[in-house]
Amino acid sequence: MKKIAIAIHGGAGTIAPHLLTTELEKAYLKGLEDALKQGYETLKNNGSATNAVAIAVMCLEDNPLFNAGKGAVFNHIGGHELDAAIMQGIDLKAGAACGVTGIKNPVLLAKAIMEKSEHVMMAGNGAFEFARQNGIVIEDEAYFYTEHRYKQWQDLKDSENFQLDHSEVKSEKKFGTVGAVALDEQGNMAAATSTGGMTNKKFGRIGDSPVIGAGTYANNATCAISCTGHGELFLRSVVAYDISCLMEYKNFTLKQACDLVVYDKLVKIGGEGGLVALDAKGDIEMPFNSEGMYRAKININGDIEVKIYK
Ligand code: ASP
Repeated sequence: MKKIAIAIHGGAGTIAPHLLTTELEKAYLKGLEDALKQGYETLKNNGSATNAVAIAVMCLEDNPLFNAGKGAVFNHIGGHELDAAIMQGIDLKAGAACGVTGIKNPVLLAKAIMEKSEHVMMAGNGAFEFARQNGIVIEDEAYFYTEHRYKQWQDLKDSENFQLDHSEVKSEKKFGTVGAVALDEQGNMAAATSTGGMTNKKFGRIGDSPVIGAGTYANNATCAISCTGHGELFLRSVVAYDISCLMEYKNFTLKQACDLVVYDKLVKIGGEGGLVALDAKGDIEMPFNSEGMYRAKININGDIEVKIYK
């Protein structure tokens, strides 16, 4: 049997059982499972890892529970600026969109940038124009309105504070960002990440998610990684590429590399969060140094796991 595997995340943070109602917990688990299964179906039908991660992430972007696409957090001026990236391990091709507005599925824009442009990363108005020219679905502002995100922003909008979707404001906990990694029948890996960033963010703030090597990375020689966490610290730690480097240059296993980066290096600089990771053998790691992480996987034996807490 050919090896296929997939892992996804819907954000990491201070997630504890008493903070979620039973209904909300069920909704998160179902959202994760649906996205996971859609990605897995793609792999089962001999689809590429690139398509599988795009489809899984798209599914999470369309779910208002997660901080990406519909459900993205509000920025300082009450709008939505979205970041996404995708990378494929076979040829190290990558695409990323940052600070874009009105894009229903930023991961599809990132994929179009990878496949149809000469560039890796496009931002703001230019990225929007590229989306328009390439038939990427555009939505008006109303599509991105969700009540719970609006309330989060109301709490912060008159302050200089911004809010990571992972941490705590007025005892409420907020989570988000989505990502996926996959291994296809051909032995190719891919990774994708998509986010609305932080509530009340301003001045064109970009996090780690769309930055190749920081929040997203894939290389058939090593691994595929999608991160979620405090973007500034993940950027400074070049998290995804660091894990790949430890495997490539130091012969670390995927687990050893993930453990060192997530539980030691990131902790030392105060970088809260986690990631999903996959290697060419189909081994999956989903480490996080926060209280919880929305996560799910189907391993090479077809075993499924969907989890929130430690
Ligand atoms: N890493 C994302 C960012 O900083 C946030 C997240 O993972 O929720 O934009």
